[in-house]
Amino acid sequence: MPFNHPSFSQQRRQFLKYGLLASASLALASSCHSESQSEESATPTTTTQAESPSQVIVIGAGIAGLAAAQQLKADGFEAIVLEARDRVGGRIWTDRSLGVPIDMGASWIHGPEDNPITPLAAKARARTFVTQDANEAVYDVSGRLIPKSVVSQSEEHYNALLKQIAELTDAEDQDISIAEAIRRIDAAELQDLLIQYQLAAYMEFETGGPIEKLSARSWADDRSFAGEDVLFPNGYDAVINLLAKGLTIKLGQVVTQIAPTNAGVTVTTNQGSFTGQCAVVTLPLGVLKQKRVTFNPGLPAPMMAAIDRIEMGTVNKVALRFPKAFWETEVQFFGFTSQTKGKYPYFLNAHTFTAANALVTFGLGNYGLAMESQSNQQIEADVLETLKTMFGKVEQPEAVLVSRWTADPFTGGSYSYPGVGATPEDFAALAEPIADRLFFAGEHTIHQYRASVHGAYLTGIREARHIKDLYG
Ligand SMILES: Cc1cc2nc3c(=O)[nH]c(=O)nc-3n(C[C@H](O)[C@H](O)[C@H](O)COP(=O)(O)OP(=O)(O)OC[C@H]3O[C@@H](n4cnc5c(N)ncnc54)[C@H](O)[C@@H]3O)c2cc1C
Repeated sequence: MPFNHPSFSQQRRQFLKYGLLASASLALASSCHSESQSEESATPTTTTQAESPSQVIVIGAGIAGLAAAQQLKADGFEAIVLEARDRVGGRIWTDRSLGVPIDMGASWIHGPEDNPITPLAAKARARTFVTQDANEAVYDVSGRLIPKSVVSQSEEHYNALLKQIAELTDAEDQDISIAEAIRRIDAAELQDLLIQYQLAAYMEFETGGPIEKLSARSWADDRSFAGEDVLFPNGYDAVINLLAKGLTIKLGQVVTQIAPTNAGVTVTTNQGSFTGQCAVVTLPLGVLKQKRVTFNPGLPAPMMAAIDRIEMGTVNKVALRFPKAFWETEVQFFGFTSQTKGKYPYFLNAHTFTAANALVTFGLGNYGLAMESQSNQQIEADVLETLKTMFGKVEQPEAVLVSRWTADPFTGGSYSYPGVGATPEDFAALAEPIADRLFFAGEHTIHQYRASVHGAYLTGIREARHIKDLYG
């Protein structure tokens, strides 16, 4: 959930405040603080047999897995984290190869008020920067700056359209996609480039899903916290590093099989096998969909059906560093009413929060997926053409970074979204434990806060508590 645009967030979302959950995170944050600084995450191990069958195996060192492991440790359990990559953080990934920190996965704390990530960021002493969605300049397809009054009018129109979609879905028995709902209301709306821009830059970015597959009934039935979004000028990984402190983390362990037994659980990796009394599985939905890990016995039918119905969307980022800024340096966001929906319609001006002359743009919806099969050269050329249209000139970039989250075998997409027919119960089915041995966490296992860092974090705490209740 990388975007919190007021036009829809105030329309259908409820700003519920979860005081209890926030205080749980504070407790965890202080327990992290007291941990030793030693990390066992630096060296991948060779074949390993877990020595303690009473340990809890946590699969995945994204925020859900790290939160679970820290909470388990605080509750007196021995936890071992198995991670396929050579780094921790999963979809929180700060790349520094451009010379400045660029978050190629999550960037924002959405709604920092009462958000459980806020106290963690404070504990990590991470600098945060408030972004304002209204600090935006939108250009039309021929490069003319669209007057703010016209953009505002269009946003009002977009909000009215969202209301019509809600009314239509309330009246229909069957769920349909957002695109189909708009077609039934007025197909011409889909041809309006400013509306198309908002559907891509707001809705497809927020949900991760293309409007052609996104459920008209359920696309906005989750919740958010209040407050203006903040990002991390020095990298989101400050939060990850805090949570990883003091944990036993084995990197380079690609889990291939998970087998619960009467006595415990055996987890097989590319390097060996581990036994424990139970496991927290934080494998991303995309990995579950692609059946990259074998469950023995197989997953229950309701969980398999939910894995099918909940979709994994694609949001990709392209970050470019230039020798000098050729754009308005004070503006935080630039919009572009691209002819092709989702093709680089939105730019984050990293110059507003770092010393670098850097821009980050996004491939969204169907285009986010399509761009993954293009070369970096092609992607760079397309982005530069867009920038030239917008600003009339362009510099050659010194360095470019491209994400490909769907091709990534350890994610298989960016974040989960409800496909047509998906229900809150489907998200709940993904969180259903198996035989009190396998416990499931991750952003796709929490309906209210799906697709977010805070949601994933809360699921890790949730499953650690679950284990404490059963085995503590
Ligand atoms: C481009 C992008 C932008 C985003 N922007 C935001 C944002 O601004 N704000 C926000 O709140 N959220 C954002 N999100 C969503 C957020 O990043 C995720 O919801 C959250 O990080 C997911 O955490 P997780 O622990 O559930 O999964 P992950 O972080 O994916 O962790 C799962 C871990 O399991 C590991 N793994 C996978 N397969 C195996 C295997 N076979 N064996 C062992 N380990 C394995 C993975 O490597 C990974 O480390 C964004 C996501 C993306 C991709």
